[in-house]
Amino acid sequence: MLLTFHETFTQPGGHSVKRQIIDSIEKYDKIIIHRHVRPDPDAYGSQIGLKSLISTNYPDKQVYAVGEHDPSLSFLTNPDVIEDEVYAGALVIVTDTANTERIDDYRYQKGDFLIKIDHHPNDDQYGDLLWVDTKASSVSEMIYELYDEGRDYKNWQLSDEGARLLFAGIVGDTGRFIFPSATERTFEIAGQLIRYKFDRSKLFDGMYEKNHKLLKLQGYMYQNFVFDENGAVYIKLTKEVLQQFDSTPSDTSLLVGSFGDIKGICAWVIFVEEDDQIRVRLRSKGPIINELAKKYNGGGHPLASGATVYSWEEADKVIAELKEICRLSK
Ligand code: AMP
Repeated sequence: MLLTFHETFTQPGGHSVKRQIIDSIEKYDKIIIHRHVRPDPDAYGSQIGLKSLISTNYPDKQVYAVGEHDPSLSFLTNPDVIEDEVYAGALVIVTDTANTERIDDYRYQKGDFLIKIDHHPNDDQYGDLLWVDTKASSVSEMIYELYDEGRDYKNWQLSDEGARLLFAGIVGDTGRFIFPSATERTFEIAGQLIRYKFDRSKLFDGMYEKNHKLLKLQGYMYQNFVFDENGAVYIKLTKEVLQQFDSTPSDTSLLVGSFGDIKGICAWVIFVEEDDQIRVRLRSKGPIINELAKKYNGGGHPLASGATVYSWEEADKVIAELKEICRLSK
């Protein structure tokens, strides 16, 4: 069954999928939570926020959040490092990851039971139990909904630290509440979360402070982007450019939204050259661009997607297709 991005996917059966997830959490003593490679605040927020939620309510369970650490997210927390043996008889939950190739790491399949919790289009329906809500702004918002259900069903509590992580994930995936994915419910949940005790200013600093080199790279992007008559925008950040500003490909994640403020922009693509591939970061103000991402080894949300190409010739094809998408959307 193929689902459109408006649909909410729930497991058939009498109980709501959230209660089935809570029942599964209660059943297992060991729970290992994975998320996607190249994590962002929603990946950490949903994964480690869920870990915090479970640990708060079931202090005797062993709960781990795994995956390669990104030092730029240290202000949130650090993941756990565990041996393969831990997976025996464990419940594994994967958050914020549409397809199995993007799960960090491959051991997600070594547990006893697998749950997928995600808000991307459900193209790869992996897992024994799936909760996919493409209307949710973020998976952190979904974890808050899980907590809300748990509060009614099992008297669950959410700690200050759990609230901080979920708030960070929601802020990150909504671009500080400006993307259309931020709904009335998103604001309600954010309103609940800021009632907990955590330092919001410090959190925003951790998420958005940029060092001076990165700001200069942002200046380069503003000086050099190419804008066509239909509002299609692109820029190529080659290895040489990154070197010039002493920045790494992963540093550029803070700059992807920069073009969103350009008047008349339709959609944009930022190419970031890595050692053996060119990362393609696509954003749109209207036309759907994840189908384009899928054609180039990628995917993602209708208005925020990523892909990979292997030459600048291939990058030029992406630009041509994006221009055509913008032309047709006029
Ligand atoms: P990014 O540009 O990395 O911030 O990614 C934007 C969105 O596209 C995120 O929701 C990612 O999950 C998704 N995405 C990025 N790269 C890929 C990829 N190679 N395959 C599938 N989805 C991707």
